[in-house]
Amino acid sequence: MEHRISSTVESIPFSIIREMSLKALEYENVIPLGIGEPDFNTPKIICKSALADALAGATHYTPSKGDPDLIEAICDHLSINRNQKVTPENVVVTGGGMGALVAYFRSVLSPGDEVLVPEPYFPAYKPQIEWLGGKIVGVPCSLEKGFIPQADDIVNCITPQTKVLLLNYPNNPTGAVISASDLDLLSQIAIRYDLLVISDEVYDKLLFLNKPHESPFSRPGMAERTVVIQSFSKSHAMTGWRVGYAFGPQWIIDPMTKVVSYFTSCASSVSQRAAISALHIDTQLFENMVALFERRSRFVYEGLSQIPGILLHKPDGTFYLFPDIHTLTTDSYKFALELLDKEQVAVVPGEAFGPCGKGFFRIALTLPENLLGLAIERIERFVRTHY
Ligand code: PLP
Repeated sequence: MEHRISSTVESIPFSIIREMSLKALEYENVIPLGIGEPDFNTPKIICKSALADALAGATHYTPSKGDPDLIEAICDHLSINRNQKVTPENVVVTGGGMGALVAYFRSVLSPGDEVLVPEPYFPAYKPQIEWLGGKIVGVPCSLEKGFIPQADDIVNCITPQTKVLLLNYPNNPTGAVISASDLDLLSQIAIRYDLLVISDEVYDKLLFLNKPHESPFSRPGMAERTVVIQSFSKSHAMTGWRVGYAFGPQWIIDPMTKVVSYFTSCASSVSQRAAISALHIDTQLFENMVALFERRSRFVYEGLSQIPGILLHKPDGTFYLFPDIHTLTTDSYKFALELLDKEQVAVVPGEAFGPCGKGFFRIALTLPENLLGLAIERIERFVRTHY
């Protein structure tokens, strides 16, 4: 039978991250630094609470907007922890942060609309935008500038078709965190050029040095044009539960709720109960997790910085590092394949995150320090032997 797949879907291949993790399975003793998820299980207290709720009958569809108890817990959480006054009309619960991104783009983009995204960027943005007929416009960011977009570069990319500015801080894949003053500048640009802003803040809890999280949503005049994407995946070690949410102005949250209702009905009821528990338990558990990621990040930063030919930006958050290997090669795809083959270390080539990622690779610090130390030794041997 002829395999008649949609040309739109066929136009974009499976992600390089997925390809590299499949390749890694072909090797023994691999040190996997490819996949971006915490190496902790969801705390048992959350699992037990969700199980108890399931046994008590929380097994039905919830409203498309989300379980009212979760929405209330989210509003309380935003008010207490971010000083953001958000009411239930401003919130929609989704299948992970990914579900919130999909619902957002589906709600605001018409064919031909352009979305500005500082590059390198999280790979899922591109298919999500382009499958709707939108266009992703990468704004290259350099290591020298800490991977933060420069105001002039953003303005130079604005056309009459530009509708949305997408920001993602703390950033995947670079670990960069934007300063309050840079956010002020970008917010002023958004207002001047009448752009919508989507702020993907799924790593907002993974900040180092006890830095406060900064969001464009809280800038003057921005709440009416900004939607924030949130998730329990990274902050609460809950990747498999698939629960996240968005908050923002009702005029965008309402159509997003409509998209959820027609595409998935609602997020998983049991996962939503787990999320309520996650918002209520002692935050110390998660603070310990962040402290551990910070220690690992500093450890690997120091280790890789000693290797001739590797340059690094010191991350202020997340569990990623994005080493620059331009002086060794710009073909980071080949570099990653050979590193896997010769030394069994799995990393993600930088081009997975947009064309300007060439000459970089991403590692996720989701392993204990002894394995990270071994990975540094192997990378060093590989670089010294082959470059
Ligand atoms: N946004 C960014 C920047 C991410 O890195 C991820 C996952 O890696 C997501 C959104 C989606 O996360 P989830 O759907 O698990 O909440």
